[in-house]
Amino acid sequence: MTAPPTPGLSARARVALTATRALNAVSRRVGIGSGTVIGGRAGLAIDPGLLGRLAAGRTVALVSGTNGKTTTTRLLAVALEVSAGAGSVITNSTGSNMPPGHVAALAGGGSDGPVVLEVDEGYLPASVTTLHPRVVVLLNLSRDQLDRTNEVRMLAGRWRGALAGAMDTTVVANADDPLVVFGAGSAARVVWVAAGMRWRADAVGCPACEGRIVFGADGAWSCSCGFSRPAPDVWITEPGEGDGEAEWTDGRHHRVALSIPGRFNRANAVMAAVAAEALGIPADRALGAMATVDEVAGRFTTPVIAGVPTRLMLAKNPAGWAELLALVCPGDSPVVVAINARVADGRDPSWLWDVPFEDLRGRPVVATGERCLDLSVRLRYAEVEHQTVRDSVAAVGVAGEEWPSDAGRPVEFIGNYTAFHDVLTHR
Ligand SMILES: [Zn+2]
Repeated sequence: MTAPPTPGLSARARVALTATRALNAVSRRVGIGSGTVIGGRAGLAIDPGLLGRLAAGRTVALVSGTNGKTTTTRLLAVALEVSAGAGSVITNSTGSNMPPGHVAALAGGGSDGPVVLEVDEGYLPASVTTLHPRVVVLLNLSRDQLDRTNEVRMLAGRWRGALAGAMDTTVVANADDPLVVFGAGSAARVVWVAAGMRWRADAVGCPACEGRIVFGADGAWSCSCGFSRPAPDVWITEPGEGDGEAEWTDGRHHRVALSIPGRFNRANAVMAAVAAEALGIPADRALGAMATVDEVAGRFTTPVIAGVPTRLMLAKNPAGWAELLALVCPGDSPVVVAINARVADGRDPSWLWDVPFEDLRGRPVVATGERCLDLSVRLRYAEVEHQTVRDSVAAVGVAGEEWPSDAGRPVEFIGNYTAFHDVLTHR
């Protein structure tokens, strides 16, 4: 790889950059990781200001929120390639969404094109201060790993503090999520998108006064203190199954036809289109480019697992599960649900009790993963008949054997982080 030019960097920053690139190259070669964290950590250890120096003078867009970050980041990167050219957008496509991953993305990118970074919710305030983004996309906030990011109201307050100082930043924010509205509310310039919010359990407490948010019809919400849903600048209508249209207050409307499924992905695409527009790409061209994305880091692919065509989906928390269960439940193909509780998943799987597994009643279901017994108890309380098979690949085989599809429909596989990756990387 040809190293990109590094004009204006100090000797210390150049050493840090060289170390980042060298360690990433070595770690990729010897297979001890994707080379996105080790090198970045080393670079930051040598020069703690490296990230800000690498981003100086660049057009930066950040994407944060509990769910949909990786997909929205990918969609926005593809949209920006419309004018920047294929391969010229720098992005952390591996999902390494903390500062070492950001350093690695910037150090490895061989162009001076725009930068689109997925950012961990907790690191957003520091990232805004360091990277001076032109655009920040705020998708949603809900409970995630219970041992790490359960205090989402506190996160919303920290977002609000950081964005108050970002005078040159356009924030693209979900008007349907009260915590996002609170977090974005201090920003100088906000485009409000009615992106929807199926999971509301983390937003009933008003972040402005600690009173109670009341949700009404048509997505309206408000608190007695006056904190309420802002009038959206952009919203999404769903004229038919699998179809969407984005409408702007100025009367424009554009079709949202994606290769990846789900209402939530159409909402992610519209958020990305509004962000692209803030960076000079017409929304219709941005949406047209996004239609070519048919998988995101293995999500929504349909490989053959244990001889069975299987659609792979990732859900990490109750809000994500609620969206995916709503996606698969109109169908009748078997559903394999997989739960692990390793560090990357969060060690505490008690969130299973918040997931609306009742939606699966009457469907062929196999529970799997290292915590399949916790899952099995939850499914029994939800009155969902199921089989339990600890090994995830074997579980897909059982689903395909017990309920063969004569219509060629794939088995639906939904797993949390490491459970998904176990099956994705199985060959
Ligand atoms: Zn209030």
